[in-house]
Amino acid sequence: MENNLRQVQENYARIQDKIAEAALQSGRKPEEIVFMAVTKTVAPELVNAAIDCGITLLGENRVQEYQSKKDAYRQGVPVDFIGTLQSNKVKYLIGNIRMIQSVNKLSLAQEIERCAGKQNLIQDILIEVNIGDEDSKSGMTPEALPELLKEISQLPHVHVCGLMTIPPPTEDTRFLQAMQELFLKTKELQIPDTDMHILSMGMSDDYAQAIRYGSNLVRIGSALFGARNYQK
Ligand SMILES: *Cc1c(COP(=O)(O)O)cnc(C)c1O
Repeated sequence: MENNLRQVQENYARIQDKIAEAALQSGRKPEEIVFMAVTKTVAPELVNAAIDCGITLLGENRVQEYQSKKDAYRQGVPVDFIGTLQSNKVKYLIGNIRMIQSVNKLSLAQEIERCAGKQNLIQDILIEVNIGDEDSKSGMTPEALPELLKEISQLPHVHVCGLMTIPPPTEDTRFLQAMQELFLKTKELQIPDTDMHILSMGMSDDYAQAIRYGSNLVRIGSALFGARNYQK
């Protein structure tokens, strides 16, 4: 564990440097980019080590894993939900999670509306976009996005803050670029009661590139914590 803690510290410092460099290259300040630590399969001790380094946002993929680990995390650090979310599990997140980044259909937004309304709070969300139009991935198609946004913007307890994507793994940057264009276009629509200011894009393999294409929130797991072990 000692070794692992040191590794996390080293990884954190290296990633921060790369984030800063990419931010400056794209004409922004390093502090405008949010570095989320993705915690799936990671022991709470290591997550807390990342928090001690300066991580200010955690990302969770599975409701059950989140529930079993959240009390062991250093308190006061917000958690976003980034995984595939079934409607029947929404109720466990509302009131606990800062933002649900993986809203991929209207019915899910409607369930968030119902649960948030019950607790009398407004839930921040991102819309997940399937920018590569892959059958294997969830998310809205770019074409369907404006209509969906208009419908979701009508829900009084749901607040759209931007877009999230997991682009197909390719060497070239066309999906990052397509996503940047879509984000800017959607922003220009100025749909009332939406506030498009977050582009959540970039993981361990492509975060520096993603920042160059306008991302301001990168979700990093294995580059920070090491390869995941799903056996445990
Ligand atoms: C696992 C995961 C990440 C982090 O992936 P790494 O390649 O390990 O950085 C980011 N976003 C989502 C939605 C994930 O499920």
